[in-house]
Amino acid sequence: MKVMVTGGAGYIGSVVTEELLRGGDEVVVYDSLYKGHREAVVEGASFVKGDLLDTELLRGTLIQHKVEAVVHMAADSLVGESVKAPAKYYRNNVLGGLSLLDAMREAEVKYLVFSSTAAVYGEPAKQPIEESDPTQPTNPYGETKLAFERALRWYDGAYGLRFVSLRYFNAAGATERCGERHSPETHLIPLVLQAAVGQLPEVTVFGDDYPTPDGTCVRDYIHVVDLAQAHVRALHALAEGHESAIYNLGCGGEGYSVKQVIDCARRVTGRDIPVRKGPRRPGDPAVLIASSARIMRELGWSPTHQKLDAIVESAWRFMQNKR
Ligand code: UDP
Repeated sequence: MKVMVTGGAGYIGSVVTEELLRGGDEVVVYDSLYKGHREAVVEGASFVKGDLLDTELLRGTLIQHKVEAVVHMAADSLVGESVKAPAKYYRNNVLGGLSLLDAMREAEVKYLVFSSTAAVYGEPAKQPIEESDPTQPTNPYGETKLAFERALRWYDGAYGLRFVSLRYFNAAGATERCGERHSPETHLIPLVLQAAVGQLPEVTVFGDDYPTPDGTCVRDYIHVVDLAQAHVRALHALAEGHESAIYNLGCGGEGYSVKQVIDCARRVTGRDIPVRKGPRRPGDPAVLIASSARIMRELGWSPTHQKLDAIVESAWRFMQNKR
């Protein structure tokens, strides 16, 4: 297939591009480089530098490259920032998304895979979280992702746009070439590894009085390659006639606490990682674990790297290669 990946110069977008190319699909990356890196665009993919709000450029790109399907990953994705700057999130995540849908309609592109998030659930009703559970986002990041996901349903009914929305839990890990390089970095695993090499003096644990076994938050970490493979499956399922769907994407199981992540990184790196206790981070639920039963059943997807050690090892290798 000919696929356009918005946000393909970002962390997850670059790994999705790698997986698509590996499977024989053709890729054009569309990215503003506002957060992404030009050198992260995988060799073998075409590249167009552009903004999501530039509907004309999007339409031209879709037509020129004869694009058949879009993976839409370009978005702002920081919970804390979204609370302080909701206008930015509504503009980029909602208006930008609608601009893309306009361009797709004009260019008659019918298939879309969308990067959604566990943040659409807000404070979860139960664990593990299922797709049918209530969606009550507690911040503009989750709210804008949900708004776009809802638009997709109506666009499907009215215009025949078929989509798969993937609600990511905690993406982590790396491939040989692609990994996390956010600036500023806010995610736990890269921060812990920065502390391991002395780039950070210490890791702050955001709260140790949660109702969890060791008092720290529990998350469902999923290897970025497993995550990327779900996108490839979703695209091919759509092309084969699969109806629109929403899927959680995590490893399930018990998840890992912040303390377990830090201990794991100590084991993997063999380094001392200084830790300090800090207050809770606003908006952090105690536990977020996915039920991924639906995507396993309907698309035959399953994660192959379920152990945290393998995920952290891959991120550690990537970090050492980059230094
Ligand atoms: N966390 C932490 N210290 C940090 C960064 C994150 O204790 O410096 C915790 C955070 O409160 C959450 C977990 O680590 O419980 C994962 O956070 P991350 O930002 O990586 O992902 P999120 O769950 O917010 O998507």
